[in-house]
Amino acid sequence: MGQDKLKQPDLFVQAKAEIPMLRQKLHGKSYIYMNNAATALKPQRVIDALSHYYADYGVSIYRGTDEFAHKADVAFEGCRQRMAKYLNAPTAESIVFTRGTTAAINLVARSYGEAVINPGDEIIVSAMEHHANYLPWQQLCLRKNAKLVLAPLDKRGIIDLPALQKLLNDKVKIVAVAGVSNLMGACQDIAAICNLVHKFSPAVVSVDAAQWILHAKIDVQQLDCDFLAFSAHKLYGPTGLGCLYGKYDLLQAMSPLESGGEMVDKVDVYQSTFKDAPWKFEAGTMPIAEVIAFAAALDFVEQYELTSHNDYLTALTAYAVEKLSRLPHIKIYNPQNNASGIIAFNVAGVHPHDAASVFAKAGIGLRAGNHCAQPTLRWLQQENCLRCSLAFFNTVAEVDRLVETAATADDYLS
Ligand code: PLP
Repeated sequence: MGQDKLKQPDLFVQAKAEIPMLRQKLHGKSYIYMNNAATALKPQRVIDALSHYYADYGVSIYRGTDEFAHKADVAFEGCRQRMAKYLNAPTAESIVFTRGTTAAINLVARSYGEAVINPGDEIIVSAMEHHANYLPWQQLCLRKNAKLVLAPLDKRGIIDLPALQKLLNDKVKIVAVAGVSNLMGACQDIAAICNLVHKFSPAVVSVDAAQWILHAKIDVQQLDCDFLAFSAHKLYGPTGLGCLYGKYDLLQAMSPLESGGEMVDKVDVYQSTFKDAPWKFEAGTMPIAEVIAFAAALDFVEQYELTSHNDYLTALTAYAVEKLSRLPHIKIYNPQNNASGIIAFNVAGVHPHDAASVFAKAGIGLRAGNHCAQPTLRWLQQENCLRCSLAFFNTVAEVDRLVETAATADDYLS
């Protein structure tokens, strides 16, 4: 392992200093956070942006005419513009704010899917999907008497493109795929998938970028994806907020999923007309503080180039995989998918929840269970496992503590 690749970039060291949770202790030990795929810890500037809004201009958007209301309107819509620029979306109006990735995918499944899927049509997903990108499509197929088709995968969990091509035909209307899987860390070639799907079928591609957004600077125009969903909380932003990018003509043709305040144009007694996209999808009072604070998260990511320098995370993950693999009682399920920082593993003979409590006593936070990815676990022929997910701030010393703890984790049995 090249030591130079394991040297943490200075920008990452500086960014780490901004995250207060990383100064916490767990069981009296300095806290080592290795559950980054569950949520990203927040930098102080995001926490400050939330309280700045509430303390200094915390009024509703679109519902006032005074200076505070104007400031809130500008900050909120400014974040939509910022988001569009971040994703290189052609227009800010193709950005819909939602409650999270889950809500964004359900919006596509309900508003787009209900309109285009007919009996006998097909929707392609893969066994690498989080439940949030599996169940909405499965349930849509059940409602519409359509067929859910699983894309073939290689042993790393990567979609086999020639095999995918063979599945494409006129009946396929939606292909839904995660850029990075939350359990195997498999990175899909989304640009190639979009290209294939558009060439060989009338289907749209809906991308679940919940994990991917942390590792790449996504350019939706370059990918030519039709929809793309992610959650702010996975990218150092607040909880309760997500983003759906959609090609504008698709969004504009879709009916709103929820109706209520602000999404409507004219309400007559028996009929109403709705606003244009994206506002017709944003019924009721939006998570204003969260949207505004998310701009601060994007500043954080861009200032410290957190989605660049991926060599460091890949090298650190490969280092962890190599050390853990030397332990005979540790079984790693995804030794080759190092770029996403995710390691899925088990301690032989120890239930993952028990093993997780051993790691917690060593100050290490990671996740155990089914990871909202039962199709992936079924594909692995497992019921549950541990998941360690590294981020830019993790270090070699922290990985060493993980490995030392793993070395004795099977003592739990004795
Ligand atoms: N998709 C993937 C790949 C995820 O990892 C997650 C969350 O872990 C989701 C979707 C759902 O995200 P949220 O719970 O923020 O809606």
